[in-house]
Amino acid sequence: MFSYSKLVRGLLFPIAAKLQKSAILKEYKYLKSTDWCSEEELMRIQNEKLQKLMTHCYQNVAYYTKVFDQLGLKPEDIKSREDLSKLPILTKQIIRDNYKDLISKDIDERKPAHQSSGGSTGVPLKFMTDKDKWGIKWSSTFRAWSWYGFLYGGKIFTYGGNSLVKSEKERRKITKKDIFDKLIMNTLKCDCSDMSEEALRKAYKEMMNYKPEVIRGYPAAIYNLAKFIESHNLPSPKIKMVLTTGEMLLPLHRRSIQQIFRAPVYDGYGAGDGGVIAHECYMHEGLHITEEQCIVEITDKDGRLVDDGSPGFVITTDLDNYVFPFIRYQVGDLATMKKEKCSCGRKSRMIDQIIGRTGKTLFNKEGQAFTSIVVDNMMFKNMDYHRVEHEKIYQKIDQFQVRQHKNGDISVLIKPLDSNEPIETFDYVVENFTKNFSGFKIEVKFVDEIPRMASGKEDYCISEYEHKG
Ligand SMILES: [Zn+2]
Repeated sequence: MFSYSKLVRGLLFPIAAKLQKSAILKEYKYLKSTDWCSEEELMRIQNEKLQKLMTHCYQNVAYYTKVFDQLGLKPEDIKSREDLSKLPILTKQIIRDNYKDLISKDIDERKPAHQSSGGSTGVPLKFMTDKDKWGIKWSSTFRAWSWYGFLYGGKIFTYGGNSLVKSEKERRKITKKDIFDKLIMNTLKCDCSDMSEEALRKAYKEMMNYKPEVIRGYPAAIYNLAKFIESHNLPSPKIKMVLTTGEMLLPLHRRSIQQIFRAPVYDGYGAGDGGVIAHECYMHEGLHITEEQCIVEITDKDGRLVDDGSPGFVITTDLDNYVFPFIRYQVGDLATMKKEKCSCGRKSRMIDQIIGRTGKTLFNKEGQAFTSIVVDNMMFKNMDYHRVEHEKIYQKIDQFQVRQHKNGDISVLIKPLDSNEPIETFDYVVENFTKNFSGFKIEVKFVDEIPRMASGKEDYCISEYEHKG
């Protein structure tokens, strides 16, 4: 039987990759071959790439020549992940201040791609990547998909914001990339920045007409679409799986998406700027780091490694970006590294949990930090937590947002599933927050709509409060 997916995989994709001089398929084949490598072998691959990158940085990147010289280091002093902590952390501010000095001298030979990231953290960050970083990043994603039995070329409905999809306005102008997305990536893209009833209906129709094998996108957006299907008693599409990316996947989202789409959810984590990329496997025990392409460290605020299992900043080193190297880059996320290896048998290290963006952490008067995942737990967990109560509460909240104001007071905005729900149902939320944030005023408010950011991402935790001292 003719299948367009097979045509893409067998013919169109290889031709397009060749025309674009992209190493994507070569890299994909390579990653498939290293998928079950021993830990020693993975570290050997990683260290080899790291040493090559260090030598390049010292010789060609003014910022790093200066850093190495000031510290009295030579490239050969950085042989492994452990040695990396001899080098300082790279922040967005340092990148802005040293933009020119971070560009490699051999830029002309590398024909770099100009990029910018951000939106969620305020001012966008300008940077560059080597020409085929696109292919390298996608090869890792393709490998993860293959773990779930989904091969590139398969039909995808993408529902996301500006890191995945063009806005509705931009969509009117068709570019080469749109044609590529449609024909070669076999993807229909739909913008999620409008979450009105009308926009959801339109997205639903587009999805149903398209008949995708897979839905991919921002978890909160897909969750909203799932809820729309449920509340209107509409048929769900027959899909194999849901692939989430671009923002944090909360337990609430995973649960509802799985239930309503009757398909498993696999989460992925990537940062366009840091080169970090990690994917869940079918065991759902954490996110496998693509060790062949990036080094991930979890550190305290001074760049010192924290123990596995303890929360800290995600620090990444991109092993494939030579034109604008990201060495020990602070992505802006908090996470924990898993102590154990995954029971699937793969030996890569795993990010246990992404626990929120640093800018969106709430603080109490004592300076204790509450990241989005913790806040999520306070929303859904009674302090006398037991399963039955949990289930009930899940059925009462449609969406929520927690805002900590400049003075530290907290507003919890809730869009209840049932508009007749008495606000007293959520007294436990006030209790949970009061216990943790004593001295600040806590209020729960019902709203019809949760405000979204311009990027289309949804924020659960917004904080204007700065803890001093
Ligand atoms: Zn695994």
